[in-house]
Amino acid sequence: MHCPFCGTHETKVTDSRLVADGDQVRRRRQCTACGERFTTYETAELVMPRVVKADGSRESFDERKLRDGMLRALEKRPVSAESTEAAIERIRQRLRARGEREIEAREIGEEVMGALKRLDQVAYIRFASVYRRFQDIDEFRAEIDRLAQEPSFPPQDDER
Ligand SMILES: [Zn+2]
Repeated sequence: MHCPFCGTHETKVTDSRLVADGDQVRRRRQCTACGERFTTYETAELVMPRVVKADGSRESFDERKLRDGMLRALEKRPVSAESTEAAIERIRQRLRARGEREIEAREIGEEVMGALKRLDQVAYIRFASVYRRFQDIDEFRAEIDRLAQEPSFPPQDDER
């Protein structure tokens, strides 16, 4: 990397070590031209991608929104807070792992559905019925049949 003092292209690493419990690499560098020393820190990029909504507008990734949507679907279901948090963390990791700067809101919805399907099928149907806006009752029923669930739980109507 360039020397921040004289701008020359040649700097050498004189020391490199893990810091912050291994989450960071600290490097001591020295400029081969002017001899100045400086330190750089390297960390993994943990920034979440921006969310592209259906209307094309962009917004920051909002974990609270994600959690609220999942908790609404999981209301009164036998799923521990721990499992829910683990699922949320997995979704975050999967979204980050795509390495994209932007991600469609639809794709986040698909991730949530995948996670809920593993956690609790009733919660999955609740979420999917709102999220996918099933075109008609047959489509809704087909999804329920597919999951071999009792079709006795109504979709929540307080979601958008
Ligand atoms: Zn220099």
